[in-house]
Order: sequence, then C-alpha cells, then structure tokens
Amino acid sequence: MTPIELQRIKWFKDISKDDIGKVGGKGLNLGLMYNAKLPVPPGFCITAQTYREFIVKTGIVNDIQRILKGLNVEDTKDLQERANQIQKLIVKTSVTDEIKHEILEAYSALNTETLFAKGKDIFVAVRSSATAEDLPSASFAGQQATFLNVKGQDQLIKAVRMCWASLFTARAVYYRVKNNFDHMKVLISVVVQKMVNSEKAGIMFSINPATNIRNEIVVEAVHGLGETAVSGEINPDIYIVNKDEMRIKSRLLKMQKWGLFRGADGSNIKQLIPENIDKRQVLDDNEIMQLAKYSKQLEEHYGKPQDSEWAIEDHEVYIVQTRPVTTLHERKVNEEVEGDAVVKGQTASSGVASGPVKIVFSMDDLNKVNSGDILVTPMTNPDMVVAMKKAAAIITDEGGITSHAAIISREMQIPCIVGTENATKVLSDGVVVTVDATHGKVIFGRSIIEKEKREIKQKLPTKTQLKLIMDIPELAEEAAKTGADGIGLFRLEMLIAENGIHPAEYIRQNKDDEYTDLLVMRLKNVGDAFKGKPIWIRTSDIRTDEYRGLNGGDKEPHETDPMIGWHGIRRGLDEPRILKAELNAIKKLHEKGYKNFGVMIPFVIRSEEVRKAKEIFRSLGVEPVKDIPFGVMIETPASCWVIEEICKEGVSFVSFGTNDLTQLTLGIDRNNEKIANLFDEMHPAVLGEIMGVVRMCRQYNIETSICGQAGGRPEMAKFLVGIGIGSLSVNRDVIYKISEVVKQAEESMIQ
Ligand code: PEP
Ligand code: MG
Repeated sequence: MTPIELQRIKWFKDISKDDIGKVGGKGLNLGLMYNAKLPVPPGFCITAQTYREFIVKTGIVNDIQRILKGLNVEDTKDLQERANQIQKLIVKTSVTDEIKHEILEAYSALNTETLFAKGKDIFVAVRSSATAEDLPSASFAGQQATFLNVKGQDQLIKAVRMCWASLFTARAVYYRVKNNFDHMKVLISVVVQKMVNSEKAGIMFSINPATNIRNEIVVEAVHGLGETAVSGEINPDIYIVNKDEMRIKSRLLKMQKWGLFRGADGSNIKQLIPENIDKRQVLDDNEIMQLAKYSKQLEEHYGKPQDSEWAIEDHEVYIVQTRPVTTLHERKVNEEVEGDAVVKGQTASSGVASGPVKIVFSMDDLNKVNSGDILVTPMTNPDMVVAMKKAAAIITDEGGITSHAAIISREMQIPCIVGTENATKVLSDGVVVTVDATHGKVIFGRSIIEKEKREIKQKLPTKTQLKLIMDIPELAEEAAKTGADGIGLFRLEMLIAENGIHPAEYIRQNKDDEYTDLLVMRLKNVGDAFKGKPIWIRTSDIRTDEYRGLNGGDKEPHETDPMIGWHGIRRGLDEPRILKAELNAIKKLHEKGYKNFGVMIPFVIRSEEVRKAKEIFRSLGVEPVKDIPFGVMIETPASCWVIEEICKEGVSFVSFGTNDLTQLTLGIDRNNEKIANLFDEMHPAVLGEIMGVVRMCRQYNIETSICGQAGGRPEMAKFLVGIGIGSLSVNRDVIYKISEVVKQAEESMIQ
C-alpha cells in the first residue's frame, strides 16, 4: 500500500462533502446532517481504507482472490459456496491490534459523549456504507448490512467484521462480475452510531401527506419506540403545524394504552402506559415546535419535502431517519367517525362509506343492490360477487376476517365489517348509514367522510418478495400498480362462481376443453398485468356447500362438514379430469408465451398426492418443476409432518395457507364468529409448524412463502422475515403497511 496517511476513524463532525471515498454514501449523509446542526445521534465512521488495511495486513486479500479465481457466477451453487467461504473468512479473521484499538477508543469516546451513559457500554447501530458513487444499487455493495442494538466491545468488532463481510454476499459478487467491477477495488466503510433509547417517537412530514398541503407540517407521536406508529399498531397523536407561521394548528389526541420500549438486553418490551398519562398529549408544545423546526430544516437541507423518523431520549430530540416524500404514503384516515355505534363487528377491510342499506337474504334480493348501496347480509357467498362489486360497503352477521366476504372486500378495497351477529336485524332497507370499517362500527346517517387516500408506489423496497393474493382477474391491472413482486395465490373459485358453471358439470358434459379455455381466457390478462413476475395459480379448492347455486351445483354431495371434506387435491385426484383441465390451462398459457405462471395444489396431506398430481401434469407432456413451477400449499398439520417426503418428491415451492393451517391445528372453525377471538395464527403451535417446514425446505433448497391472511399481520410478517421466508403474499389493502414492517424487520436482522 502507498504510505499515505491512514485515517481509520472519522467522526461525523469531521466529515465534509468530498469524503464519500472514505465514509461512503450513508456516512457522508450523516456527517453532512450533523454539520448542518441537525440532531442526528452521535457517531463515527470506520473508513473504507481501514477495511482495505484489514484485508491487506491480515493477508486475507490473497485468500479472497484465490477463492474467487475461476468463478462462474452463473453456477449459483458454486457462487453461493464461494461467497459464504469469503464471508466466513472475514468474520473469523482477527482484526489487527491497531485497528481494534482505534475502533474501541472511538466507541468509548461515544459513551462519554452521551451524559446519561457515561462510562457504560452503550447500544449502537452498526451499518455498512458503500463508497463508490456509481454503484447502481445498495445490494451490490452489501450496503444493506445493518446491526441494531449492538453493545459491548466484542459485539461491536464482530458487527464491523460482518459489515465488511457483507461486501461478499453472493448477490454482490454476482453484480460486480456482471458489471465488470474489480472486487478488490470496491471498498466499504462502517458507520457506528448511538442508538436512541426512545421514550417518545414517531414520524413527521414536512408537507401534509394526506392533503398535499405544502405549508403544513404533520407530526405523529407515540410513547416508546416509533415502530408501533409506522406499523399502524398504535394510533398516534397527530399534530399539525402551520409551516409559514410556525404555530400549532391542530392536535388530535389518541388514547395510547401501551408502547414498545427497549429492555436492558436490547429486546423490545411492551409496556402499559400509566392511566394518568395515556389520554394526555404525548408531546408537549415545545417538543412539537422543536420537531417542526427540524422538519422544515430537513426540507431545506435536502431541497425536497421530507418524511422523517424521530425519537426523544432524555429530553433530547434525534432524527433517526429521513427520506424524500416521493409519492404520498399510503395513510389511512384513522380518524374515527363520530356517533354511537348501532352495529359493531370486526374490520375485514378498512375504510369509510355512507349509503342506503340493502339487505340481502337470498339470491332473489341481489338485484335490488345498486351502485353505492351498503350491502347487508347474513353471510356473503360467491354468487354475490357482482352485487358486492357495486356496494359502497359490506356488512355481514357472520364470518371472521378470513371469510369469503372479508377476502373479496379486501381485494376490491370495499370497506367491510364482518361478524356483527345482528346487522340484518338492526338495520333495514333504505336506511342511510355510515360504515366506519376501520373502527368496526356503523352509525345512522351520513357522516362527512374523507375518502382514504391511496397512492401508488411503484416500488416496494424489500428484500423479501412481497406478492399479492388475488381472486378476480379484472382487478389485476390495478393490483399490478402496487409494484408487487407477483401473485403468490390466485384462487380459481371466484372466477368459476362468476362464470356460473361448476367444474364437475363441464366434465359431466364432456366439455373439459371448454373449462380449460375459460381459465386460459380469464387468466391471460392476469399474465399481461404481471408480465415477468411469478403468478401461482391454485388448482380449484371448492367446498361442496359453497357452490350449490352454480349450474351443476345441485349434484354436489351433502357432507357433514364440508370444510374438512371433499375438496382440494383429494377431490382433484378423485376427479382427475377437473385437475387435468386446470393443469392444461397453465400449460396452454405457457405455450402462449405466459411463462410466468406456476401452479400449486391445495389441502395436501401426503406426498403421494403430490406425486399423483405431478403424474397428471406429465400426462400432458409437462415435466412439473422443470418446465413449469409446481408447488404445494402447506395448510394441514399433516403436510407439516410429512414435509421432508414432499421435498423429496420434488416441488418448486411451498406456501403456507395459514387460514386452514390455523383452523386445523387449533380446532377452530374459521367461519365461526363465536370463537373468532380464539383464532390466532400466532399460536405457538402454528408458528412451530411453520418454522419446522421452513427449516426443512431450506435443506432441500425449496422456496417458502405464505398466502394465508396471516401474511398481512405485522407480527406474522416480522416473524416470517426473521426465520427467512422467501416471500409473503398479502391482500392489496395492506401491502404498503406490510412492506414497511418487512423493511424494518430486514434492517433489524443480525445477518
Ligand atoms: C388458506 O387456507 O390459508 C388459504 C390461503 O386458502 P383458502 O383461504 O382459500 O382456504
Ligand atoms: Mg385453504
């Protein structure tokens, strides 16, 4: 190395605009904010040259070059192995004494800089920071490595080495080779920054994201850590500040019964907020104004409206993250409609709408539903879809949040309340009501409603793929605008119901091809809308009681309990022509150039079922897995127990159907509102099953995913990201919220 002066540590205060080569993009940004007197938590950067010194002085630079020699990056397995080898090498190689000494000296200086932690090890965030400006993406440089709540000297050094190692993820290596970058010339800096132990936290926008009013600053605040506000678990206080006059315009206070706080070991603990505080304003007026001032300053600093996360510890305000408000956030109007609830139930799809009630007891009542009406019914069924599409809101007596009504309303983005028990009795035709589905209540009369503002983001910036659950082909184009990574579950049942003929009837009339053609025709536009992105079509899963209204439905057998009866793959194998017609549709779509379609089979309990279904596919001249992705739904406890056999049988992916998996594991009828409060996908038994399956699939290199409703629960999404699931499929109404949760979970993972 050239004997230039090596600066190993650069404090934020010493960073200037030409330092990107030393401290990387992230470090530079923090330094510039610090020097603009914005209150970023204190910290320092371990320069990129220190990384270089580390690999040169320890000699591992030669090992790295040796490991990479002759690598063909298209050989994924080999690439993965070599990348792992290098990462392991970096993580296990001792840091030289000089480097270690300087890092630890800076760490200890950081301790003393913060009064309240004097002399103690403090929690820090350790992040890699890419140095080359022209790198096209963060993942290329391994920039994504972030370790939160790191405490103690050994942990710090370990996290630094892991950041360095992140320069050699398989993805980063692949990208460099493909773009002709020299591995040895790309360097990485590491940012070490104090973690704020927030007593209060939240988000602020330098313009009003709900109305786009530019001279309003919006500050949202919760007790404890801000992630409860970001994930939507807690309704934050909302303060609006007039930006021109810098005065508080309005305050909307919310009762906050609990908050998340950091425990001594760095884990998050849920704590109740004392009763005398829970109804009070979270921030005092001084704090609101201080934040508003910073929000304005951030907008000036970056020259663009900013969406920033902030935290307060020991009366000090910190800005912990900021990004431009590029598109409006998907923010629901959380405000509760005023008035006494005449009917209450569970939120199936949030939103607010007013209109006249139309009660539907039978199919004969369906044509009285006009556009803008409030459809009230004991329970929806697939024959009602046309009327549901017209409704401004839907209310049902029965059903939980995985019921038919709930699923369809979410997909159509119609406000819906389910399980009210008495809506059809309390309400009557023609009465005008307002449905505040977000808060599960219905009031008499029209309310001044602000329609939810839903803005489309073109990109969901998560590593874990985020896909959609879909049932209705015509909605595909709209759905694709979310930027979802594909469709993780497309159910055929709704399409069949709308068509009006039971699949078994097609077969009885020897019209197998007509059924195939129907599917091809309807699915084509889904393929067009999601070009190049995977679409997993589930073969039909029709319960015998649900489709009696269809042509041929009267011939369906009567079963004691159709929920656990003759449906899914067991029926598909008993009536192989139905299954074959559906598989043939997927084959034909491929032949027409729609190569993005895959198929999955429902309600599997044995690997033999998988084998037999694959044989049927083969009889069509298709080699499942190889020619067309072929997966199974994991939605029975049995399938979890025989997962290894299923893996050995050979599948492209598995996807958790947590609606049925929870129903069957806990013994809780998913449609029974009496016990809906017990239906919990987070039950340890369900989580245990999921974990076992993910672990086994990893051994066999089989992709894992989820397509039950639980993927849209923040706590489940967090759990799944933590155990390394490949993708999540969620309903369109929660995709942005879940993308935030996933992003946070990814960031907080020690990789
Ligand atoms: C499930 O069971 O989780 C699932 C996705 O399938 P369905 O809801 O259609 O039964
Ligand atoms: Mg199911």
